Amino acid sequence: MHATNNNTLGKAHIAILGYGSQGRAHALNLRDSGLHVVLGLRRNGPSWQRAVADGFSVLTPIEAVRDADLVAVLTPDMVQATLYKEAIEPNMKSGAALLFAHGFNVHFKQITPRQDIDVILVAPKGPGALVRIEYERGRGVPCIWAVHQDVSGQAKARAQAYAHGLGGGRAMLIRTDFKEETETDLFGEQAVLCGGVSSLVQAGFETLTEAGYQPEIAYYEVLHELKLIVDLFYEGGITRMLEFVSETAQYGDYVSGPRIIDESVKKRMKSVLNDIQDGTFARNWIGEYQAGLPNYQRYKQADLDHPVEQVGKRLRARMPWLQVDSAEPAEALKKAG
Ligand code: NAD
Ligand code: MG
Repeated sequence: MHATNNNTLGKAHIAILGYGSQGRAHALNLRDSGLHVVLGLRRNGPSWQRAVADGFSVLTPIEAVRDADLVAVLTPDMVQATLYKEAIEPNMKSGAALLFAHGFNVHFKQITPRQDIDVILVAPKGPGALVRIEYERGRGVPCIWAVHQDVSGQAKARAQAYAHGLGGGRAMLIRTDFKEETETDLFGEQAVLCGGVSSLVQAGFETLTEAGYQPEIAYYEVLHELKLIVDLFYEGGITRMLEFVSETAQYGDYVSGPRIIDESVKKRMKSVLNDIQDGTFARNWIGEYQAGLPNYQRYKQADLDHPVEQVGKRLRARMPWLQVDSAEPAEALKKAG
C-alpha cells in the first residue's frame, strides 16, 4: 500500500516476536506497507488473541523464526536473552537478520548473536501508539537505526527498509550504533525522564508540605502543572515554554533554576553515566532481575507510598478528564523512557 524503498524486504518473511506497545505498531505498519509479517508469540499468552483478532498469522516463536528472513525481537528486554537461547539461536536461517528496538542485550553481551546473521536495530522515537497513529495519518515517527553485524552485505539496507516500512522514512532516519543507543537511552530515563523528574517532584512536594503548605496545593504546583510545561517543551523546546510563561516565572527560572540543578548535580549525572558506560548499572540490574526483584519491589513501594501519591489519588478522582484506561495511557507517556 505505502511501500517505499522496500525492494530489500519486498519478499522477505518478517517474524515479529512480542505484540505489546512496539510489536503491535510494527506489525500493523509493516503489513500496511505491503510487507509479509507473521507473529511469534507464546501459545495462549496475553497478546495471542489480540494478534489473531488483528488478522495476523500467529505462530510460536520457534515456528515463526524458522521461516523468517528477518526476526524482530520486541519482547521486554529482560526476557530476550532466554528467548534468544531457546527460540532464536537454534532456529534462525543463516544470512537472516536479527532486529532489536533497544540495544541493551547485545551491547551488554547478554545476547551474543550467531556469526552468520545480520544484527540491526530500528527504534522509533515514540511509543507504539504514536508510531501507529502517525502512520495511519500518512506521516511517521522518526526512527534511529544501527548495524551491529553485517554478514549479508544488506544489513544497512534491511534496517532502512524496515524503518521505512514503519513510516519512519516519512519523518527522519538517524544512524546510531548499539552503544550510543543503549547508553543514551538508559541515561535519559535515569537522570532526566523517570528518575530525575520523579525525584525533583517529590523533593519539591516535601519542601512545600514540610513548610506547612497544604498537600493539595503542593500537588498542583509541583506535579499537576508539570504537564503544561512538558507539553510546551515537546512542541517547541525551552523557547516555547519561555514564550508562554509570565515574566515573573521566567525571572524565577533564571535565578533559581541554576541554584537547584547546579554543577554538583551535573557531577552526579556524570557518575550515573559512568556506571552505565562501564557496565555497573547493567550488571546490578541483571542481578536484581535474576534474584526476583527484591530491591526493585521495595523501591517501587516507596514511590507508591509517597504522600504525593496519596493526595494525588484523591485529587485526580475529581478530574474526570483524566479517567483514562490505565492499560492504555493516552499517547505519549507509555514507557516514554
Ligand atoms: P511491551 O511490554 O509493551 O510488550 C512486550 C510483548 O512481549 C508483549 O506482547 C508480551 O506478551 C510479550 N512477551 C513477554 N514475555 C515474553 C516471552 N517470554 N516470550 C515471548 N513474548 C513475550 O514491550 P515494548 O515496550 O513494546 O518493548 C519492546 C522492545 O521495544 C524493548 O526492547 C524496548 O526496549 C523497545 N522499545 C520500546 C519503546 C516504547 O516506547 N515502548 C520505544 C523504543 C524501544
Ligand atoms: Mg528507555
